[in-house]
Amino acid sequence: MLIDIHSHHLSREDHLQFIVGVHSLGVHPWQLQSDMTKSEFDKLKKLFSPKILAIGECGLDRRRQGIIDILLQEKVLKWQMDWAQEVKRPLIIHCVHAHSDLLKVLKERSYRGKILLHDFSGNSELLKSYAHYDAYYSFGANWLKLTPNKKNIIKQVETSRLFLETDDQLKISIKELYQETAFVLGLELKRLEEMILQNLGNFFSDLDNVSTSDIINNLRVSFIS
Ligand SMILES: [Zn+2]
Repeated sequence: MLIDIHSHHLSREDHLQFIVGVHSLGVHPWQLQSDMTKSEFDKLKKLFSPKILAIGECGLDRRRQGIIDILLQEKVLKWQMDWAQEVKRPLIIHCVHAHSDLLKVLKERSYRGKILLHDFSGNSELLKSYAHYDAYYSFGANWLKLTPNKKNIIKQVETSRLFLETDDQLKISIKELYQETAFVLGLELKRLEEMILQNLGNFFSDLDNVSTSDIINNLRVSFIS
């Protein structure tokens, strides 16, 4: 069974999909308004239901032009962190050129919840820093396009913390990502599928009274015919 842990599109392929905005609630740093107040944010919190499996995608971005100041981004990220802890949901994190900022916030908060660093593009030093947290990593099209040497970063990620994703692009399928990952890690495809399925259960294990099969049913969205 293939699992796409971070997607913005409903796919035609038969696999499990975590769709941002359907299976999660949150405010992406690109969407933030500088005048967003806590009470506006609290309105978003009212949309939470037990079917929401995670908070996000949220995070920090220093590369994108024209978005709000990093300190304001941090403020809203902290609200989302508190929310994730309140509702016992993992956080889906977008972090671009802002890992030191994110690590600072995690440390300040002594953050203990699970986090998914989606489209992870860090190096081995960063992996060591994130190892202090309950962090999972997901790789997608940007990883697939790297040189063979740079792709090897995936070998340094603990296999129990690994996910794959298609994100917002449609050219590279989740199947291609599984195939390439199995090749780079020197694993049978079946073995990789089993591992990531197990990671799915672990990643959502803080949800009360929700089993892995409930999660699977929730992600088995109806496919477009
Ligand atoms: Zn995304």
